[in-house]
Amino acid sequence: MMDSLLADASQRLEQALKYTFISEDAIESLKFPQTSLSVSIPVRMDDGSLQVFQGYRVRYDDTRGPGKGGVRYHPSVTMDEVQSLAFWMTFKCAALGLPFGGAKGGITVNPKALSRMELERLSRGYIDAIADFIGPDVDILAPDVYTNSMIMGWMMDQYSIIKRHICPAVVTGKPISMGGSVGREAATAMGAFYVIQAMLPKFDKDPESTTVAIQGFGNAGGILAELLYHKGYKVVAVSDSQGGVYSKNGLDIPSVRRTKEATRDVRAPYCDSSVCEISNQEILTNEELLKLDVDILVPAALENQITAANAPYIQAKLVFEVANGPTTSAADKILDEKGIYVFPDILVNAGGVTVSYFEWVQNRSGLYWTLDEVNQKLQSRIIEEADRIWTISQENAIPLRTAAYVHAISRLGEAISAKGTRDYYLNGRGKSRN
Ligand code: GLU
Repeated sequence: MMDSLLADASQRLEQALKYTFISEDAIESLKFPQTSLSVSIPVRMDDGSLQVFQGYRVRYDDTRGPGKGGVRYHPSVTMDEVQSLAFWMTFKCAALGLPFGGAKGGITVNPKALSRMELERLSRGYIDAIADFIGPDVDILAPDVYTNSMIMGWMMDQYSIIKRHICPAVVTGKPISMGGSVGREAATAMGAFYVIQAMLPKFDKDPESTTVAIQGFGNAGGILAELLYHKGYKVVAVSDSQGGVYSKNGLDIPSVRRTKEATRDVRAPYCDSSVCEISNQEILTNEELLKLDVDILVPAALENQITAANAPYIQAKLVFEVANGPTTSAADKILDEKGIYVFPDILVNAGGVTVSYFEWVQNRSGLYWTLDEVNQKLQSRIIEEADRIWTISQENAIPLRTAAYVHAISRLGEAISAKGTRDYYLNGRGKSRN
């Protein structure tokens, strides 16, 4: 049993190091987060009382560029979780070849219990507390679990008020009217969709013969379910934090999404709309969903969902991780022994940060792209990196996750070593400049 999420996450680093050559210095510098900031955010509540929230921002590594990563609002947010998420961002940005390091932020809060005005005060208070720690060339924020474009807009606005000039590039995932990029909202799902489409033929499958179960029906899981549905995949089960629905003939996803929008519950159509009559749905728990006999399982909720306890019962042939860190390292071993292919989070959900990068580029150049341009650039980049990871995995006979880390580490290692290594200083074995 690992003592922390970060320690478990770092296991992946250890495994990948066996297959790549990087300097000991580089390994040493990747073991620990570079800077971790913890802040208290006092917020005046609507009833006049003062409540103090805990907030965090971690920059794990910025060798390849400014820190980049989302801000999560969730009651279970801790420093350990934020550090792990910043760790994953570091390798995600490197795997995709984005000129960013990894960072992450979070506030320990149940945002559903706050009014909109309390939420705005909390978001602006968070920026007041971390303003000196972030910046367009230092550390760039974005949405994550339970944060959205409106919150990103407040954050950008607050940072601009503090700096006394408009700074759109400090936050990505903003409303389009405030310098956001078209295509950012759906980008995480879009990226996952492109990866699934590109990898499916390797398993002699086509959409029509492929069944899918998706855990998590938020911005990523919900949009991905709809993209897959429209492409002809049979999405047989979806769930949210309350539970899920299952139909062996496939769910009517647009209808489930509409109902979820209206009622905030994916199970609602089971009893009070026409969907149940059409598709004969059953209710199931999140745990049952993970164990369904499907071709593709998509964990798109939170971390630590596939564990040593339930991994032996996973029946899916392919797992595409849309959530960050949904599989523990102990579960990884079990899935690998069972011959299940796990396409890792740092590839599959990288569409979000890739379009965040595009947004940052657009903000800095002042030239804005069309939706087609954004999606084409996303598609070609994510498929190219997916193909490389697939090749590394095949050539070394290693799991896809290890291959993704090998790929990311070689980019990171190169950047760390470019500043000089032990070998360079002591033995003069560095590259000469002439
Ligand atoms: N929160 C998203 C992730 O975990 C997006 C991060 C970003 O766009 O910077 O990848």
